[in-house]
Amino acid sequence: MTQTTETHAFKTELKQLFDIIVHSLYSNKEVFLRELISNACDAIDKVRFEALTNADLLGDDDDFKIKLIADKEAGTLTIADNGIGMTREQITENLGTIAKSGTQAFIEQLREADAADRPELIGQFGVGFYSCLMVADKVTVVSRAAGDDAKAVEWSTDGQGSYTVGDVVKVGRGTDVILHLKADEADYLEPFRLQAIVKKYSDFVEHPIVMDVEREVGEGDDKKTEVVEETFNSQKALWLRPKSEISDEDYTEFYRHLTHHFDEPAKTIHYSAEGTQEFTALVYIPSQRPWDFFNTEPRSGLSLYIKRVFIMDDCDKLLPPYLRFAKGLVDSSDLPLNVSRELLQDNPLLTKIRGALTKRVLGALEEMKKENAEQYRDFFKQFGVSLKEGVNHDFSNKDRIADLLLFESSKTEPGEFTTLREYVDRSPVAQKEIYFLIGESRELLDASPLLERFKADDQEVLFLTDPVDEWLVSGLGQYDEKPLKPIDRGTIDDEEKSDADKEAEKEMAGLFEFLQGKIGDVKAVRVSDRLKESAAVLVSDEGDMGAHMERLMSKLGRGEDVPESKRILEMNASHPAVQAMKRLFDTNPADDRIETYGKLLYDQAVIAEGSKVTDPAGLAKRINALLARDAEAGAAKDGE
Ligand code: ADP
Repeated sequence: MTQTTETHAFKTELKQLFDIIVHSLYSNKEVFLRELISNACDAIDKVRFEALTNADLLGDDDDFKIKLIADKEAGTLTIADNGIGMTREQITENLGTIAKSGTQAFIEQLREADAADRPELIGQFGVGFYSCLMVADKVTVVSRAAGDDAKAVEWSTDGQGSYTVGDVVKVGRGTDVILHLKADEADYLEPFRLQAIVKKYSDFVEHPIVMDVEREVGEGDDKKTEVVEETFNSQKALWLRPKSEISDEDYTEFYRHLTHHFDEPAKTIHYSAEGTQEFTALVYIPSQRPWDFFNTEPRSGLSLYIKRVFIMDDCDKLLPPYLRFAKGLVDSSDLPLNVSRELLQDNPLLTKIRGALTKRVLGALEEMKKENAEQYRDFFKQFGVSLKEGVNHDFSNKDRIADLLLFESSKTEPGEFTTLREYVDRSPVAQKEIYFLIGESRELLDASPLLERFKADDQEVLFLTDPVDEWLVSGLGQYDEKPLKPIDRGTIDDEEKSDADKEAEKEMAGLFEFLQGKIGDVKAVRVSDRLKESAAVLVSDEGDMGAHMERLMSKLGRGEDVPESKRILEMNASHPAVQAMKRLFDTNPADDRIETYGKLLYDQAVIAEGSKVTDPAGLAKRINALLARDAEAGAAKDGE
């Protein structure tokens, strides 16, 4: 019947993905049915929504259902729906290509992952359809888009590298997914087996999942076998059932049905608001961050239903973008069904729902943090960066968000965190500020000379290593009335300076002035009160951009937008190297070694803060000169 059939090759990456799915993905093959039923359900939701404003779309078929058809002779299982269907272009686009950026990187990640973690990863990628290749050696999809003039299309693959698309005749709209089951998977033709799988994974699916089964009817002599269409699922919208009747497994399966993710939700919020606005929300906080979470446009993860009818995915009005990790749905009974999506976006009722839900999600996070610190830490590692955006974007909840933040610090073990509250409670009463240092990695910060004085004084310094942290601290400003203070910027007030420091300043003035003239890249050379062991360190002026921010901007290719702010080179006046330089300078200010040593100390400080030395060849030359001289002196001494 096919008129024009074309054969296309799958992209290599799709083929690689199939291999992973088929050979090592699921320990639980039966979930292919859940995936296909979820797709069918989504397709029905879509056509039902379109029909709200275009009733003709349904024609005379408004009896939505998903039908399972087992053909034992042919060895096929068909999952048929009367949903929105697909055009030729859509079917090629949806099933024949993966248009997502970073697919190759994702496949690498999959390959490296433990077999047990793979299902979670693949679920996030949204390729549930292909899971049918675990049980079928060929799959044919026959689809006809909704609308009178739509032509049907047949798409088929054996998962071996190519697929065909051709025209076909199909009565009625929707999609038939026909699985040619592998020889040892004939089990999936048995109604009782299929019924059990539907009950387990898809019981709450709103549309009936039906199958023609043989049943004995009548009594005594009238007993006969008849074929009847039986509905396998109870169809109770999970979110409308009382919480007491819902098990953890029910919640988890529903999460998977809704999101096509395979992980366990870390937290489930099931909430009904009554009174002025009536709505029910079922919101999940996932435990795994989708692999492309930070590469895609921030979209809300909540779907909107009105009186159980699906209206839209990713409804941005339901939660602010910084909570976009939350997934789930909101079902409102107060919104009018027949409104356009655009109008819905401006509805004041949605704004109220958003306010209430934001508080609920923050509340759930607070609860998790209090009751299960380990789970909260894992959550924060996955989604903390997103939560941090809230400090700058949700002024009314800023304090609550601040209390949810976690930081590593000079007093936490690597990978462990402190809250701001704990930091403040631990610090001496007299400490008026919260100290922090921003940089690339914990290791680098831990080794920074800037910490020496704080470590000696037993004062805690927060380590900020996320690219967003610079914006976070400027948005936060303070916590519990204590300003956040970067330890690599500014000076200590004159009156706080010890007499010894003042003395050292006087002593070093001549040498430092000389060095400042020689090291072109610094704005000043001065005595440091931050150092204990190191000889030198770079700091910024109070109002200047820190080194980390400058590095970030140049990474983003915005280096030119950043006014170059010169740094201050601070030296430890009691360090033997600095003292030796001072003696040399006092004896003969014209000795050219002074400049060489000064530049060496400067380069050391640049390396210690994680920046790049601008003149590595010069640095090597200076070190070698020093080495040669020292070795020479050593040899001369040994020869004596
Ligand atoms: P996901 O459902 O996570 O997007 P899938 O690989 O399962 O990923 O499906 C890819 C796409 O194919 C779907 O997003 C949908 O657009 C389309 N699709 C799959 N099954 C159907 C169906 N039964 N009816 C209509 N469209 C479908």
